[in-house]
Amino acid sequence: MKNIIFLAPPAAGKGTFSEYLVDNYGYTHLSTGDLLREEAEENEELKEFLKSGKLVDDKLIIDLVEKKLKKLAKTQPFVLDGVPRTLQQAQKLDIILNGLGFLNVVAVLIDVEKTTLVDRVVGRKVCPNCHKNYNTIIKEFQPRIDNVCDDCGATLITRSDDNLESFEVRYHEYEESVNPILAFYKAKGCLKVLYNNKVDQTEALKSLRSIVDEH
Ligand code: AMP
Repeated sequence: MKNIIFLAPPAAGKGTFSEYLVDNYGYTHLSTGDLLREEAEENEELKEFLKSGKLVDDKLIIDLVEKKLKKLAKTQPFVLDGVPRTLQQAQKLDIILNGLGFLNVVAVLIDVEKTTLVDRVVGRKVCPNCHKNYNTIIKEFQPRIDNVCDDCGATLITRSDDNLESFEVRYHEYEESVNPILAFYKAKGCLKVLYNNKVDQTEALKSLRSIVDEH
């Protein structure tokens, strides 16, 4: 199976698609956002910083990801969610993956229109325990019981950066940095695009499955 690197604006569905790959294909999900939020539980400065929506230092991210990748068996497929977010991260990550012998890698751009992203951000709720994503505005993604995780029963929370102000910062960061990253993966011949603008994700999941199963 392919190792997947998701490239996407905020709230495009990286987390949801990653969960799908974990549940249906046994992928390991490495989310830099989740790793940072866990670290921020014991680091007030980082906690405040994450609220802003600005990017954290490249070196911190790369070290974090390298540490996690080193622990993975070569046969264990993984999905990277949230990295790279700069060209430097893409270049460093490439060196690390090659060095560790992870060669079967595909970068997947999740393409979503900005108005759709705003709806997803405003309604998003997440489980602080198992990280499953929900949406209070979009019927298909509501939890069975208000504010309770379907899977583990924890009380759902709103991420501190899921507000319009922070979204605009994160979206701007994304727009500023994504083109050189896309060019990097295109030049390597391993870029795919997944369109995910609809509420019904059947088609998008079908495309994802065909990417995963491709040899
Ligand atoms: P996410 O959950 O992917 O939306 O990430 C939440 C926040 O974590 C971002 O707004 C950034 O502040 C930080 N972050 C996550 N991944 C990265 C990265 N690869 N580079 C820099 N900052 C990151």
